[in-house]
Amino acid sequence: MGDVSEPLELSLPSPAVEVADERLARRGVRLALKRDDLIHPELTGNKYRKLRLNLVAAREGGHRALLTFGGAWSNHLRATAAAGRLFGFRTVGVVRGEELAGRPLNASLARAAADGMRLDFVDRATYRRAAEPEVIAGLLARHGPAYVLPEGGSNTLAVHGCTDLGREIGDSADVVAVACGTGGTLAGLAAGLPGTAEAVGFAVLRGDFLTGEVRRLQQAAFGDTRGRWRVENRFHHGGYARTSPELAAFAADFAARHGLVPDRVYVAKMLHGVFTLAAEGAFPPGTRVTAVVTG
Ligand SMILES: *Cc1c(COP(=O)(O)O)cnc(C)c1O
Repeated sequence: MGDVSEPLELSLPSPAVEVADERLARRGVRLALKRDDLIHPELTGNKYRKLRLNLVAAREGGHRALLTFGGAWSNHLRATAAAGRLFGFRTVGVVRGEELAGRPLNASLARAAADGMRLDFVDRATYRRAAEPEVIAGLLARHGPAYVLPEGGSNTLAVHGCTDLGREIGDSADVVAVACGTGGTLAGLAAGLPGTAEAVGFAVLRGDFLTGEVRRLQQAAFGDTRGRWRVENRFHHGGYARTSPELAAFAADFAARHGLVPDRVYVAKMLHGVFTLAAEGAFPPGTRVTAVVTG
């Protein structure tokens, strides 16, 4: 775990719970939920796994501050702010949209600010160039030296951190389903899964960039591409944070049946994808599916 997690009580390995659902049983498909949302009340899910080794590196590098990027509802920004408070780093969040600077903070940014994160609202053109050295140099000049995490937190150490997820699932599943934003979690999960299990990433953003991105992240982390994985692009419901009446109905029904209200931005889209694929007969009878509740 490294010494960064010492003050924390973490539910690791996260619990895996079987879910009985007649729609899947009819197809001979078994479903388990991998409850990464229970890892920690504030550092939930894949955000803890992605941050862990980065926090170790930041501390070992003598850094006192973390600087990162996100949209106004970014779970990564909020998790970084919480990590800063829990582990004693100053935090700076570079937020997309300078027009937000004059407005009341939404619940997510208010939480980050309450955890001590300094928010810097930048215009969209600058934000788009957030990975460029000159933009980062400008931000560090403004905010002081800091350990820099990319948007969504997906870097090489994040990918390595997510390999634990695959190892925890081990050979208990034939298919592992996970929601994808930047693809860092899928990249690590697939690399950590032993044996022949396939990891399926459900894209929550529109567009066809994730396969290339996951490949790039694996190349950077391991020097090659690893594991069996693929990306499903059919279940974004209009794009990031968009929804559809079908998705809303599915999520409400899932909550009523199973007592878990799935996160609408990520987890509901993945579960809807799993149930749709099962109904289409995509999983042979006997398939054991593990769905990762990433937050
Ligand atoms: C950030 C997040 C994801 C996406 O993770 P990536 O590594 O960016 O693909 C999935 N689910 C939840 C709940 C998240 O907060």
